[in-house]
Amino acid sequence: MNTNIYTHPSFIKHETPQNHPERPERLKILLEALSAHTIIETNDYDENIIVPLILQAHTKNHLAWLEESVIEDEITCIDNQDTYLSDHSLAAAYQGVSNICQAIDDLKNNDIKNKKSSHAFCLSRPPGHHAEPAKAMGFCLFNNIYCGALYAQSIGFEKIAIVDFDVHHGNGTQAMFEKHKPEDMIFISTHEMPLYPWTGKDSKDNIYNYPLPTNSNGAYMRSLYGDTILPQLDEFRPDLVLISAGFDAHKDDIQANLNWDESDYEWLGNALSKYQTASILEGGYNLDALKHSVLAYVNGLDAS
Ligand SMILES: [Zn+2]
Repeated sequence: MNTNIYTHPSFIKHETPQNHPERPERLKILLEALSAHTIIETNDYDENIIVPLILQAHTKNHLAWLEESVIEDEITCIDNQDTYLSDHSLAAAYQGVSNICQAIDDLKNNDIKNKKSSHAFCLSRPPGHHAEPAKAMGFCLFNNIYCGALYAQSIGFEKIAIVDFDVHHGNGTQAMFEKHKPEDMIFISTHEMPLYPWTGKDSKDNIYNYPLPTNSNGAYMRSLYGDTILPQLDEFRPDLVLISAGFDAHKDDIQANLNWDESDYEWLGNALSKYQTASILEGGYNLDALKHSVLAYVNGLDAS
């Protein structure tokens, strides 16, 4: 098994209201399910490193607004819909960025020492791919994957591909690309359309959107990746692939209407395993489907 799991106790302390789909139990069941793997509890985040990194992606106002929005002993809704802050949420969000950076550090060291491909899976919450430069939304506070990409380039990974297979479009990551126009990076997203957040129809510049029809199945996804996306990745020749790994395209997940199953996630993991990868947990809300899908995906990564 060459996929290491990166996590931290603060991720379970990020509270959401009762019956909220993005809840601490998601992480609890995944930690249990992945216990046969190497689970690395990451170092507590260093504010002097993490805050400047986040400020390369997000605005100062965004950070200040989040800090000001925390109300002691309360779970506060911050976007009139579905994104919540509790006392411990910001610590979890900062730690989420730090967590993926530590995973990327280890991949870099491994790359130098062992000259072999290997994988990291970041088990963190809140998720990140909906967070825009100046906006928290869709359960997300900071855009972990984009911060991770910036960090990876800062330590010597030159070409970064971000692949997002969460069932929802990674509007936040796309907004980061639109605002910052990063060089030597591409963003590839597959997502159900039409569906929240209602973006991601067209491709432009280094942003490649592949909408998936409502009710489409794993076979549709496999041929899209096999015929188009994997060849595109091969052509780009990334030094590192960062993956927004959401598991809500599963047929039993009620947040969306696709019909993937565990075997499709195993196929995806295997298809991406030829690269050095760091995946980060985004969506996936049916606990049983989430557990089986993550296990299958990690098995797929390990199979190479
Ligand atoms: Zn999602």
